[in-house]
Order: sequence, then structure tokens, then C-alpha cells
Amino acid sequence: MRVDVDIATGTTDRHVVRWINEGLDEPHKHFLIHSGLVEPFRQLRDRAASKGYDLCVCSGFRSFQRQTEIWNAKVSGHRPTLDHESRPMSLDGLTDWQKAEAVLRWSAFPGASRHHWGTDLDVYDAAAMPRGYQLRLTPEETDRGGMFAPMHDWLDTQMDINNGFFRPYHSDTGGIAPERWHLSYAPLARHCEAVLTPQLLAERLHDQKICLSDTLIGHLPVIYERFIRRR
Ligand SMILES: [Zn+2]
Repeated sequence: MRVDVDIATGTTDRHVVRWINEGLDEPHKHFLIHSGLVEPFRQLRDRAASKGYDLCVCSGFRSFQRQTEIWNAKVSGHRPTLDHESRPMSLDGLTDWQKAEAVLRWSAFPGASRHHWGTDLDVYDAAAMPRGYQLRLTPEETDRGGMFAPMHDWLDTQMDINNGFFRPYHSDTGGIAPERWHLSYAPLARHCEAVLTPQLLAERLHDQKICLSDTLIGHLPVIYERFIRRR
């Protein structure tokens, strides 16, 4: 399968289709995911349902434009950046590189998000969520003792890094924080990974009005190793 650079960097949505979380209301109902992910995810969802879990999507495809808005809002302090304990932190007084590092722990810069591909999803167990609860997507929810931990413990038994779903951010290697809620579908995602080179990312950073773009370009080899390339 060949992946074009516009798919790998989120500047098109021609590879995604609508996914519906059955039984949920807007704004929690509709998401966009890769057309090739619909069937495998439906099967995973059916297996989850047989165990009593309501496996739902809370984030699928995200465009380059949307990632730019998120990135710029975080860098400029209009949207909170979280520290290592997932508490809001201030970026005041930090150097540009320190700011970029802090935001990169939880958010990709535009062009570098796996959510551009539509092959990656953030998920939760709607059956385990109390009515009126505001979903946060934090380790407190997904890790031991959290409301979504039982479903994620079961998901652990379903992971197959070669031919199925896997967690690209399952452990802390000093880059992106562990995100147990983030699933990737290997048969599709590996083609996108292969296209996403530092050179392509640098081109995309030159393209648009992205906060700290010079800092990102200047540190791209380091960022690529720590935050983008999977080991
Ligand atoms: Zn995610």
C-alpha cells in the first residue's frame, strides 16, 4: 500500500469515513476514521461487547488544520499544557525549546500526529462511565484503579503489533507520555510511519503559521527520535 504525503501529514481527508458510536448522542457520536479501519475496529468492538465493554471512539482522524489550532492554543497558553503528573502547568518563563518540549509530551506538532492518518484512535468504555462525567483521557482513568482500566486490561490481551491493534505509546521512553487510551492499527499505520520522514515534517513546518515552527525545525532530529520514531 502506498501512502501519499498529504495523508501522512493530515492535509487531506479523502482516506477517512464516518464512524458512529452506537447509542451515544452528539458530540460523542460521530468521528472520522480510515476507511480500512472500519471493519477491524468493528470486530474489536464486537469482541469487547461480548465481555461487557462498550468500546467507543473519542478521537479519530484529526486534520493538519485542527492540529495547528490545538498546538498554537497550547503554546500560547489558551489551552492547558499538562505536567508529568497530568496537572496543568504554566509555560511562563520557559525558553522556546522548553515550551515545545512540554507541549510535545502530550500533543504532536502539526504534521506529526498519528491522528492525521485515521489509523489511530483514542478509546474509552462508555459502559463504565458515570452519567454526566466529563471525559478527560488521563492515566487516572485508564491505569490501575481507573474506571476504564478493566477494559484496557482486556484490550491488552487483544493487542498484536504485527497484524492488529497495538499501543504506540504504551510506556514512557522520555518522549510522549504513556497513553493507554491510544490504539493504532498496524496494517495501515506502518505505511504512514514509513512516509513520515524528518524532511517531510520540516517541509510541512515551513508551510503554515505554526507557533514555535523555527524551534521545531531547529530541533527536528532530536524531536523525531524522542517523540515520533517508534522503537
Ligand atoms: Zn491519541
